[in-house]
Amino acid sequence: MATNEILEGLIKDPDRLKDLADEAKELALQHGALLRIFENPNSSEVITYTPFTLFPSPVPKAKFLQALALQIHYNLLVDRISQDPGFLEEALASTIQADDFTANLFRLYREVQQEGRTKSIVMGLNRSDYMLDQREDGTCSLKQTEINTIAVGGICISGNLPVVHRRILQMLGLLEESQCVPENNCIAGMTRALARAWELYGQQEAVVMFLVEDVQLHKLGQRCIEHQLWRRGIRVIRRKFEEVSSTGHLNGDKKLFVHSFLTYNSCLVQSWDVRLLMERSLAVKCPDISTHLAGTKKVQQELARPGVLERFFPDQPQVVEQIRATFAGLYSLDMGPEGDQTVAMALANPEKFVLKPQREGGGNNVYGEDIVRVLEEVKGDKRRAAYILMDKIRPKTEQNILLKTGQPLKLTSVCYEIGAFGAYVRQGKDMVMNECVGHLLRTKNSEQFEGGITARVSALDNPLLV
Ligand code: ADP
Ligand code: MG
Repeated sequence: MATNEILEGLIKDPDRLKDLADEAKELALQHGALLRIFENPNSSEVITYTPFTLFPSPVPKAKFLQALALQIHYNLLVDRISQDPGFLEEALASTIQADDFTANLFRLYREVQQEGRTKSIVMGLNRSDYMLDQREDGTCSLKQTEINTIAVGGICISGNLPVVHRRILQMLGLLEESQCVPENNCIAGMTRALARAWELYGQQEAVVMFLVEDVQLHKLGQRCIEHQLWRRGIRVIRRKFEEVSSTGHLNGDKKLFVHSFLTYNSCLVQSWDVRLLMERSLAVKCPDISTHLAGTKKVQQELARPGVLERFFPDQPQVVEQIRATFAGLYSLDMGPEGDQTVAMALANPEKFVLKPQREGGGNNVYGEDIVRVLEEVKGDKRRAAYILMDKIRPKTEQNILLKTGQPLKLTSVCYEIGAFGAYVRQGKDMVMNECVGHLLRTKNSEQFEGGITARVSALDNPLLV
């Protein structure tokens, strides 16, 4: 790549590198690739740029398009799983014995199921993540790391970086390359889905509520979607769990009402109760609890069993094939001979696998010798069913410079993860929207196991399609 030679040159000329990096950071700030600062995450006074790469990463165009094209199938898959109580019951039976968080979700799910469903409008905003696994023959294949049906970050910032990378390439005279950074407008697509669900709900006075946490590092990004909704004449409110807990109630039709500005006692908040209240209501949830469960790592592993994808796409063998081609090896740790075999396999070659609990948001997975330590502790009883085992994907490494607040500029060996954003809306049995609405490229130091922009590991990136 031409950028590799330029990188070598820049590293030898620190003054020029600093100038270019400063220019890049200013461009990022000007174009809205913003993040609140970790030390002061609720401040409206100080902000910084989202960590990002100085150069876009070369990504094979065919693999990139493959990830985007798959997204409408993954949307359907998640949505169909969410409507299949028998599958969810069976798939998660052992996990809820071992993992409290999933057990709580499942308790709520059952409660709402028993009460009878109120919802006819369902929507999903998700992100399916992939890495390019390098085969020994030098080719590579797209492998899914996971699908996120709830922890879906990067929607708002990802669209702001193409212009930054294009400009950097132009400034360096790489005009042809600058045209290989694709457009990315997730906000428009995500907003369209929200607006569609709001229209179908059919009440002019209904609002879109963002349920937010106390720490709001990503508020500025979420604001972009809010603006787009307001511009369509849709009112938006932001409420914390405490506010929903203390003021939220359902009327006789199960419409959800939430007020604000009351005093509340945050110590008394039960977020599970809030979740149940919302779930029982007529409000369109994103995600609803069954879609949340469909995105668990245990479900991902169960989908890899022979015949399971066929259950969700009975007449579409080509779709089954396309989805299955993106599965890395996934193994159950349930009690029994199959799980025993998984344990033995992991203990024999821990460096070949990733051990995953049912958590989201980065920093929870287990690698290398830690796999041995954890499995030795839990392998004899049902606690091991809280985890799944997955083949470790071996992505190709590249050279780049990661721009992160306060960190020195240095040439780093990096690898990337491609995310495809999905948005869908269903009314009753009719899918009224099903789209891939954009992408996210995240790049990390290849020596780091885990990724994640919020976890301060990954940097926002763009594909340079080759
Ligand atoms: P989380 O829900 O915490 O985001 P992920 O499954 O996405 O969990 O894993 C977090 C990160 O760990 C990913 O972004 C990726 O960098 C790395 N990772 C996950 N699965 C694998 C795998 N099978 N092989 C290599 N790296 C992986
Ligand atoms: Mg993830």
